[in-house]
Amino acid sequence: MAATYENDNIFAKILRGLIPCHKVYEDDDAIAFMDVMPQSDGHVLVLPKAASRNLLDADPAVLAKLAPLLQRMAVAAKAAFDADGISLMQFNEGAGGQTVFHLHFHIIPRYDGVPLNAHGRGMEDPEVLAANAGKLRAALAV
Ligand code: AMP
Repeated sequence: MAATYENDNIFAKILRGLIPCHKVYEDDDAIAFMDVMPQSDGHVLVLPKAASRNLLDADPAVLAKLAPLLQRMAVAAKAAFDADGISLMQFNEGAGGQTVFHLHFHIIPRYDGVPLNAHGRGMEDPEVLAANAGKLRAALAV
């Protein structure tokens, strides 16, 4: 049987305001906040608010509405962190590398010749995350 959405996952709790996050952006349909274990400075997560485990069970209409925000956030992240490129990553189910089961997209600033930090390595200093969220918010406002 296919796994179903469970509303006690950590991102669902962030969406309900039960757990804090370093928020970058929010509207009626989506939220973006800093990844607490960034694979590169400025690693930000973009989530639709609608409940789905991942891409496999998402409503296509939700995906269509989210796509422009992914582009906007990628452009902002490239500018805010003076990156050479952006990796957009998204994992589906444990076998696909997913660890939190509410659909989310990783937007990660990249630099020529610089490998990514490991997925899920140590927690970043909250002051660094707050500063990076501020840089992204400023870049989004341009
Ligand atoms: P995934 O493997 O795509 O499910 O990645 C989940 C991501 O969520 C990882 O990169 C974690 O570092 C990140 N993460 C886990 N808990 C939190 C949290 N409370 N706030 C922000 N990011 C988180």
